[in-house]
Amino acid sequence: MDLYSGYINKLIEELAALPGIGSKSAQRLAFHIINMPKARVERLSNVILDAKANVRYCKECYTLTDQEICPVCANAKRDHGMIMVVENTRDLAAYEKTGKYVGVYHVLHGAISPMIGIGPGDIKLKELMQRLEGEVDEVIIATNSSLEGETTAMYISKLIKPTGIKVTRIASGVPVGGDLEYIDEVTLLRALEGRVEL
Ligand code: ZN
Repeated sequence: MDLYSGYINKLIEELAALPGIGSKSAQRLAFHIINMPKARVERLSNVILDAKANVRYCKECYTLTDQEICPVCANAKRDHGMIMVVENTRDLAAYEKTGKYVGVYHVLHGAISPMIGIGPGDIKLKELMQRLEGEVDEVIIATNSSLEGETTAMYISKLIKPTGIKVTRIASGVPVGGDLEYIDEVTLLRALEGRVEL
């Protein structure tokens, strides 16, 4: 038996499909949205549509940006020979917040995870290798310390080693399985400064 209207059910279904939102939260959000003034619902829908229409990958580092080239890559003062590889744009933002990293980034948009069928071809790895054909002195692998992050780090280092480019891994001390974005700036800087060559 359908307890709610078909429209509400559809809304709950879509919300529940978002990461981190269980069916209870989805129901709560759906009823909240229905009770919101129409103008606010329109604003919310438009913000989502605008973001989707205007946000794209930076042509160099693949972070999410409004421009063709993101502000970090466009900055001539950054060291373009030092590339930090991160899993996602949130991790990039975490390192940028420290204000101490002078290099550029490469955003993989995921990590290798055989368990859920994410292979090397599903993340921006080919794009990283293409960038390494230019002048690069060091690749700093800053994937998470989760099993997926470590698997990805190992895979990347094996791939880069033959090129002769220096490959380093941020120091452990970053909590296991911890998303980089939740780690404080001091810990991030310590991990960066204590990086070891692979
Ligand atoms: Zn960029």
